[in-house]
Amino acid sequence: MTKQLLDKLAQQGRLERQEFLSLLQGRTTALQQEAAARAKILREKFFGQGIFLRGLIEFSSYCHNDCYYCGLRRSNTAAQRYRLTPEQILACCRNGHELGFRTFVLQSGDDSYWTDQRLVPLIQAIKRDYPDSAVTLSVGERSFASYQALRQAGADRYLLRHETANPQHYRHLHPAEMSWQGRQQCLRDLRTLGYQVGAGFMVGSPGQTLEHLAEDLLFLSTFRPEMIGIGPFMPQHDTPFAGEPAGSVELTLFLLSLLRLMLPNGLLPATTALGSLHPHGRELGICAGANVVMPNLSPEDARQKYQIYDHKLSVGAESATGLADLQRRLQEINCHIASGRGDFIPVDPAVLHPKH
Ligand code: SAM
Repeated sequence: MTKQLLDKLAQQGRLERQEFLSLLQGRTTALQQEAAARAKILREKFFGQGIFLRGLIEFSSYCHNDCYYCGLRRSNTAAQRYRLTPEQILACCRNGHELGFRTFVLQSGDDSYWTDQRLVPLIQAIKRDYPDSAVTLSVGERSFASYQALRQAGADRYLLRHETANPQHYRHLHPAEMSWQGRQQCLRDLRTLGYQVGAGFMVGSPGQTLEHLAEDLLFLSTFRPEMIGIGPFMPQHDTPFAGEPAGSVELTLFLLSLLRLMLPNGLLPATTALGSLHPHGRELGICAGANVVMPNLSPEDARQKYQIYDHKLSVGAESATGLADLQRRLQEINCHIASGRGDFIPVDPAVLHPKH
């Protein structure tokens, strides 16, 4: 029965909420292996053996939000705060470009210092110096006008995880001043403005049930983001969720496989959180259907301070040695680093899902 649901997901690109739930409740090792095998076939059909690289630049650890799970939350007085200067950020890009990176992901807390007046010239400078490269932003919730200004400055993509598709669960993870509706509106605004949009969620976040995950899958099958980032929840010792258990690697891998069946041409990273929880987490993620890795290009001392959770993998690929290690790991699973920006390529729904 559950295998038939895998077929149906691949053929139609979506399932009913109850069907997603049945898949999650019926997860066995055999089902998980079956889903991963099908996901791998689809990944290879659309992307071959190539894995796209994104160079992550964590450029500010300041945040005015207070998410209960995140080490950057404003109430965390123990967090080490820093901001890279535009010159430092451009130096990260220069280094990354020399190493072959053609996408730069600028990520930060929701930091009010980084106004449009500051971000726009930075984006323009990156696009001027590296016209062959994509700029992805991951700087949180902003107004439509701000997203528009950043898009006009040249930003190509935007990562904003929806965090949870269930408003009550959202309330469990965030203080009352933050709004589920607001975050959903941001995702719609980003899409309207022509960004390639990334949504996503943590697996095993406190209070999350399989019903919630079924809602996440349903939301994603409807919104169909170009990119989806999922990774296990990891506790951070100075947050209200310090004592909560980490999410499951196995469940994350299963969800990655389901997402590949849902979005065969989607860009799915094997996230840092997965790599942090398991020594071969990123390779396992790729074998389950992921096709993107995001090595860290931030300076060493910044990486140490950007502690959104404990035990965060902080080996970088800012050096040729780091990149060679990644290449070797990919070779071991019969993959290689793909060249180019790695944009989302739209495909006719009839080709993606024969019974769409
Ligand atoms: N401020 C931006 C935003 O909120 O979208 C971008 C930075 S935020 C740190 C990036 C992502 O980190 C969040 O969307 C969240 O899912 C993830 N994250 C935060 N704390 C985490 C934790 N304890 N474990 C795993 N992932 C976490």
